[in-house]
Amino acid sequence: MVHNFLSQLTGSFAMPAAENPTVAMVEAAFRHHGLDIRYINCEVPPERLGDAVRGARAMGWIGFNCSIPHKVAVIEHLDGLGDSAAVMGAVNCAVRRGDRFIGENTDGKGFLQSLRTVTDPKDKTVVMFGAGGAARAIGVELAFAGAKRIIVVNRSAARGRALVDLLNGKTAVAAELVVSREPYQVPDAAQILVNATSIGLYPDVEGRINLDVTSLRPDLVVADVITNPPRSPLIRDAEARGCKVLDGLGMVVNQGVIGIKYWTGLDVDAAVMRRKLEELFRA
Ligand code: NDP
Repeated sequence: MVHNFLSQLTGSFAMPAAENPTVAMVEAAFRHHGLDIRYINCEVPPERLGDAVRGARAMGWIGFNCSIPHKVAVIEHLDGLGDSAAVMGAVNCAVRRGDRFIGENTDGKGFLQSLRTVTDPKDKTVVMFGAGGAARAIGVELAFAGAKRIIVVNRSAARGRALVDLLNGKTAVAAELVVSREPYQVPDAAQILVNATSIGLYPDVEGRINLDVTSLRPDLVVADVITNPPRSPLIRDAEARGCKVLDGLGMVVNQGVIGIKYWTGLDVDAAVMRRKLEELFRA
């Protein structure tokens, strides 16, 4: 029997598959739905990335994910890009369409799908901390979803400016940059606040973004990209202030759901994938 293979091409992981959360999450969905597909983790050094993609083609893989440091470099080995991946200039998911590998970016789409369980960003003002890869993916998808204004709050002016210029230049959203040492006060106009920095990520589990938490209003939706721990300092602070919260697991689960849809055309059960991640992050 011919199996369909998928892989996560990564240069930074060296974990056995059983302990890799993304692998465990995706394979939990495949098992649950009885899909004859395997998802394996391959550590690929940057100089062998082209060989790895040619290998995936040669073996007839239906696609793969790729993580840092391959998200930009992989593009030259692919045959085309989806709309948002083209604007972001980054790919985390390659999808075989016919005999072509097309690069998509499911990070921001996963965030959006999670956000839409509580609110529609159309015509909304969003405060987004961070200007790295996750922020770029989220900012572009929020803009494509019709957000009116994005206020990017970032430590470094250069990266913040680059993201704001990209959003203003390539999407219809009005983006602006805030760089300040003072704790940020959420303006009344904002309806959604996102932490898209790595602050709060294990092992720095008490790390907090530079925010005046007393400016969090109960009508704000507060979302964090941090998956480990899911109950990050921002999520706990926002809950204590009565905000509606979304943890980082929603984003990672939904990017997985969207990836599987791209590869197979099937809608898989997000709850099964979330349960698997919760098991791993509790352990
Ligand atoms: P990058 O390294 O590209 O960007 C990091 C961002 O965090 C930058 O804006 C950086 O600011 C800011 N930052 C980091 N440390 C500090 C600090 N001490 N003080 C102030 N700002 C800081 O990382 P990514 O964008 O790729 O990833 C960010 C987070 O998103 C990670 O925790 C990652 O795990 C998570 N993520 C979650 C996903 C999910 O599905 N839930 C998917 C993808 C990522 P500066 O520009 O000044 O350096």
